[in-house]
Amino acid sequence: MGNTRNEQKLSFDAIVVGSGISGGWAAKELCDHGLKTLVLERGRDVRHIKDYPTTNLNPWDFPHRTSLTTALKKENPIADSCYAFDEATQQFFVKDKEHPYVQDKPFDWIRGYQVGGKSLIWARQTQRWSKYDFEGPARDNFAIDWPIRYEDLAPWYSHVERFAGISGNRDGLDTLPDGEFLQPWELNCAEKSIQEKIKSRYTDRYVVQGRCAHLTKPAAVHLEQGRGQCQARNICYRGCPFGGYFSSNSSTLPWAMKTGNLTIRPDAVVHSIVFDEAKNKATGVRVIDAHTKEMTEYTANIIFVNAACLNTNLLLLNSTSGRFPHGFGNDNGLLGKYIAFHNYRGNINAVIEGFEDKIDYGRRPTAAMMPNFRNVHKQETDFLRGYMVHYSASRARWNGVHAEGIGADYKTQLTEPGSWHVSMMMQGETIPKEKNQVWLHSEKKDDWGIPLLVTSVDYDENDEKVLKDFLQQGSEMLEAGGCKEIRPYDNGRKPGNDIHEMGGVRMGKDPKTSLLNKFNQFHNCKNVFVTDGACMPSTSTQNPSLTFMAITARAVDHAVSELKKMNI
Ligand SMILES: Cc1cc2nc3c(=O)[nH]c(=O)nc-3n(C[C@H](O)[C@H](O)[C@H](O)COP(=O)(O)OP(=O)(O)OC[C@H]3O[C@@H](n4cnc5c(N)ncnc54)[C@H](O)[C@@H]3O)c2cc1C
Repeated sequence: MGNTRNEQKLSFDAIVVGSGISGGWAAKELCDHGLKTLVLERGRDVRHIKDYPTTNLNPWDFPHRTSLTTALKKENPIADSCYAFDEATQQFFVKDKEHPYVQDKPFDWIRGYQVGGKSLIWARQTQRWSKYDFEGPARDNFAIDWPIRYEDLAPWYSHVERFAGISGNRDGLDTLPDGEFLQPWELNCAEKSIQEKIKSRYTDRYVVQGRCAHLTKPAAVHLEQGRGQCQARNICYRGCPFGGYFSSNSSTLPWAMKTGNLTIRPDAVVHSIVFDEAKNKATGVRVIDAHTKEMTEYTANIIFVNAACLNTNLLLLNSTSGRFPHGFGNDNGLLGKYIAFHNYRGNINAVIEGFEDKIDYGRRPTAAMMPNFRNVHKQETDFLRGYMVHYSASRARWNGVHAEGIGADYKTQLTEPGSWHVSMMMQGETIPKEKNQVWLHSEKKDDWGIPLLVTSVDYDENDEKVLKDFLQQGSEMLEAGGCKEIRPYDNGRKPGNDIHEMGGVRMGKDPKTSLLNKFNQFHNCKNVFVTDGACMPSTSTQNPSLTFMAITARAVDHAVSELKKMNI
């Protein structure tokens, strides 16, 4: 990847804060446009392949067969609340004690501080948002109106999908727009049966295969990135040496590096944005070396803030100046407010009979899903918005406790595969509210002298109603799908555990009610852009990262054209 990572040049055309999913995209697009770009990353360097130490280990190679020790779990209740945190992946997760924050209300803040950010450990689900998601807030009168519509983003979805490589089926649903897909993964026999039964019972509910950022059939542009076909190993969270799934480390960053325009500085904690009152614009950023604690200022014509939603809020709140005494761009006092997330509290388990002569074979990095069917065309329930549903069916590998008999018979029984299980999980939209907010602690600071973030984000009555509806509707759908022993439950997950936090620096049409314009520029400082989750006025029911990518590519395109016109 060249030797530009440690160069001590201080002036660039563009600065990108953060090297995760959105920062990687900002870097790629800026470098493709010929801008000398500096990516500042607070975490350590992680090089594709070389720095995936557990990627080729078998379970028996780990001291605890990939399980975490009780001590490690006890020390990390926040990180451990994430299903993907284990002995094989822990190196890519922030440990609780290393980076504390203050929970005014319970909130699991899951982070990955390293080059690549959470792109190494995400679940790679990449559904486009639909026109209903962008029109929703205005139609149902909550949050603020999006300054863009699906049509504004559609070409940019295509742009990022082609490059990242998204596998998916063209399902032709207006609630889940099709994209530029590579070959889809197949549903298994039990899932297909549920799919057909639900289709024949309901006119508005469709089970489809989840679209995901995996190379089922790499195209030329993926081979050019040095990536190869997904091997369906399903140990993606350790980093993939094949580049089978999309990460900044395997895709956008090495691509940007090849242009010769990229400098990456790991271990660089961005402290604040520098605002020059005479020039009436931002001129750069202050950076603290993670190890020496030495402060350096870097300058650039444009700055992209991509530190991930809550860290972007933190950085901007910490960027005070004579012009912005309450945080960067914060003339209306809304910075840090209207934080939203996805409601993950509903689960339903069941069994399905009739497939005992079949077994599912091999692995799949995705699962079936159902796009939202609540309040899609009009407001029709006593709660706002709705939820999407994740599904999967699989056969237990052994008969376990269900085995019958004694002695040799019992042993033989144990070797037989068990029953088919179905699981269902909701992903509910939450309504952005002013009181769901983050701010800087007035006294407590981190090891770099930066105030700790306080999170005050909670569920509300709407979320309880959404949960109740899912548990009821989901159970009915599983029954219609031929399932038995249906067990719906509230898993009690805390906000934040979805790892889809959004808002705090929202886009909008009106500077009185939003911070960013339709191209993600601050209304009051046009050379600073925010294109991670912080910019989102509402959350949709779909996973957000593909939308972050598309919004980022669109914003870079605008930034470069404005720069050429000398407008910023
Ligand atoms: C287990 C798991 C499963 C997930 N599954 C999905 C999924 O299926 N689909 C989906 O859409 N999303 C998923 N996500 C969420 C997804 O990972 C995030 O939406 C995405 O990574 C956000 O991109 P980002 O660029 O905003 O942030 P990140 O990828 O987190 O990158 C931010 C980077 O900024 C750096 N940084 C922070 N503060 C500073 C600072 N002050 N100075 C310098 N650098 C800084 C961080 O170290 C980090 O590297 C999942 C996440 C996890 C953990």
